[in-house]
Amino acid sequence: ARDGILQRQARRESSARTYARSLPIVPVRAKGMTVEGADGRRYLDCLSGAGTLALGHNHPVVLEAIRAVLDAEAPLHVLDLATPVKDRFVDALFETLPPEFARDARIQFCGPAGTDGVEAALKLVRTATGRRGVLAFTGAYHGMTAGALAVSGDTAIREAIGPGADEVTRLPYPYAYRCPFGVGGPEGAALAVRYAETLLDDPAGGVAAPAAMIVEAVQGEGGVIPAPDTWLREMRRITDERGIPLILDEVQTGLGRTGAFWAVEHSGVVPDVMVISKAVGGSLPLAVIVYRGDLDRWWPGAHAGTFRGNQLAMAAGTATIAHIRANRLDTRAAELGDRLTTGLRALMAGRPEIGDVRGRGLMIGVEIVDPDAAPGVDGARPAAPELAAAVRAAALDRGLIVELGGRHGAVVRLLPPLTMTDSQAAAVLDRLADAIPAATA
Ligand code: PMP
Repeated sequence: ARDGILQRQARRESSARTYARSLPIVPVRAKGMTVEGADGRRYLDCLSGAGTLALGHNHPVVLEAIRAVLDAEAPLHVLDLATPVKDRFVDALFETLPPEFARDARIQFCGPAGTDGVEAALKLVRTATGRRGVLAFTGAYHGMTAGALAVSGDTAIREAIGPGADEVTRLPYPYAYRCPFGVGGPEGAALAVRYAETLLDDPAGGVAAPAAMIVEAVQGEGGVIPAPDTWLREMRRITDERGIPLILDEVQTGLGRTGAFWAVEHSGVVPDVMVISKAVGGSLPLAVIVYRGDLDRWWPGAHAGTFRGNQLAMAAGTATIAHIRANRLDTRAAELGDRLTTGLRALMAGRPEIGDVRGRGLMIGVEIVDPDAAPGVDGARPAAPELAAAVRAAALDRGLIVELGGRHGAVVRLLPPLTMTDSQAAAVLDRLADAIPAATA
């Protein structure tokens, strides 16, 4: 069954499909962190729908919330109309927001995906400021629709959209391991701040008055790169001083994944707009933007759409939010993340192909490099995408699903559910400890 299904997929489905580096498995059943394939094998899932499944697969509280809506014959589709299900969702979500932000915040339901939230955020700030330009970052990933692509870093995926990207000024993200200024660490991050400020203040810097800055507190697809809190506070200062709204893309980092309910909380920064998706729908499609009330200068119908009121996703999301908060799964993510990164760093000692281990909470990246190449000026060896792919395959052979990310596709990314048990965390480490040497052998 497995091979037939895989062959038909290869024949009929676009090669551009998600997840692009597709894994040769056919999942038929899934519970918590475990996915069972059509071949009867069981895998530990460290991909979790690209960070969507905060509570793992088919968590009982999520299933129960979905069943309750179905059993009550509550409407499944009423466009943007108010419903008790939506009312509870907005209440639950607003309770999680930083208080200074929540006080005066507005919410807009967007199309079903993260990228729709990014589009809405960009349109909102352009509508509110009457300006066009956007400040974005190298390595950023914000989605695959035209506006979101324009603010993403990857030139290959951006190529097809033509103009639009012209309005975007890209600033260096503080990537400590491959520091654009060749020094790394806090010093590199400080230089990134200085560079941003110099460019913005230079009348010949080529930056027209921007409508916003859009940023991830931890870059996910870009290779799991956590920005230092001080750097993010500096970005807030820079935007505040110039009256530029700050958009935090919390699509991947939200709902406890980084060890705080929102990644922005680590720095204490209060954003002007937050883009929220993935885990907020409790494994079903849902995206929202939450923003400062005075930016709400839409006119009725200014940002409409048919699929913006997914009642099942709101119910699943409400249950997910409640479960994370009641069980302090954000704190748990921080603990588990520390344990995994400590274990992975210990592995690094005898393994020159592990260039860097980094992350925040349960967003963890292991950068695979060429062990035989000389380090560059920044001390980093060249990325080794083929070796990383071999690690991914060796991990899968050992019953562990991981994906790759980063500029060169050489960062092994771990995004396990926040409900991962201690023994599952130990198994993840064991399997990687086995897979990495096997891939280099
Ligand atoms: N922003 C970030 C930070 C993301 O990680 C992603 C998806 N990986 C998106 C936006 C786009 O979300 P979607 O794939 O649901 O459109």
